[in-house]
Amino acid sequence: MEEFQKVVDFVKEQYPNKGFISLHEPIFIGNERKYVLDAIDSTFVSSVGAYVNRFEEMMAEITGSKYTIAIVNGTNALHLGLLLADVERDDEVLSQALTFIATANAISYIGAKPVFIDVDKETLGMSPIALTKFLEANAELRTDGCYNKGTGKRIAACVPMHTFGLPCRIDEIAAICRKWDIALVEDAAESLGSYYKGKHTGVFGKVGIFSFNGNKTVTCGGGGALVTDDEVLAKKAKHLTTQAKVPHKWEFVHDQIGYNYRMPNLNAALACAQLEQLPMFVENKRELAAKYKDFFKEVPINFIEEPIDCKANYWLNAILLDDVKQRNEFLQFTNDRGVMTRPVWELMNRLPMFKNCQTDDLTNSTCIADRLVNIPSGYRVK
Ligand SMILES: *Cc1c(COP(=O)(O)O)cnc(C)c1O
Repeated sequence: MEEFQKVVDFVKEQYPNKGFISLHEPIFIGNERKYVLDAIDSTFVSSVGAYVNRFEEMMAEITGSKYTIAIVNGTNALHLGLLLADVERDDEVLSQALTFIATANAISYIGAKPVFIDVDKETLGMSPIALTKFLEANAELRTDGCYNKGTGKRIAACVPMHTFGLPCRIDEIAAICRKWDIALVEDAAESLGSYYKGKHTGVFGKVGIFSFNGNKTVTCGGGGALVTDDEVLAKKAKHLTTQAKVPHKWEFVHDQIGYNYRMPNLNAALACAQLEQLPMFVENKRELAAKYKDFFKEVPINFIEEPIDCKANYWLNAILLDDVKQRNEFLQFTNDRGVMTRPVWELMNRLPMFKNCQTDDLTNSTCIADRLVNIPSGYRVK
């Protein structure tokens, strides 16, 4: 308990003017008001407008991807990404048991089935070793794609996730996907501003997606983005997200089942103002992470650092306790004292909707699920 008190004191020192200290909350100290009012004055508040275009340009520039499509939220961006990767009903999609529910939900919207692969202990993201092991034991490459020998189903896509903004070993995963003819859809919802070997996360596969929900590093209330280097896919994405309407001055012709998935201009205005501050946001978070790193050297609790060759946005800082019992004591102790802490998400395969999905041994996922706690990571404004 002495150590727990030290953690509480340290966190409170970082946020001197705060009563209750949350895990993360957005701050609006740039051009947010100006741009949102401008969007209102323009009357373009819905899914067409100058800020939507500007947002797409800014995201392409930040990520280094050729095309960005503004989407209504991250979950729907992921749904769209899987459609663009030609995932179909009854296909299988490889993903992580340790992820936010949106990843598994988006796969299910199509009627595809998630298969849960273990994560690395260092990155908390999909383990390339576990992925190879699973494929070698369970998959076969046919002329028309990769198939699961046990279920007879096609393995259409792989969706690794950059947990808490820590980049996973994405280039190795991309190479494995190429070898096995599996489409790579990167869930970079949490990793805006995070880089793997100098390259922004989200640009290693066919498509990548980002979220701008209120709890993420950059928010626009609700919002998402899909990035790709493929012009054909980018065009398809825009078409599908606008009800698949064939452009015409007055006729309502739609040539397939589409979606109302575009980000409204009102949200894009907020997003543009927030994106302008991304370098400052990431610097702010990295400064705090550096302080945590030093602090936890003196305390017998394991702080999770960015993997080698990576620059993490440190969206949410994370520590590992010894076991479930100690984790629960820590959660109780800190939350009782106004310091918000949270366990990691329940593993997907433990939820009723996904309990029958195929998994590998999930050794690391299980270990992490029992021990990991997120600690306050919000911006410190002077
Ligand atoms: C936040 C998040 C999403 C979904 O984003 P929304 O904008 O909330 O729909 C998807 N995947 C992961 C891993 C996330 O953390």
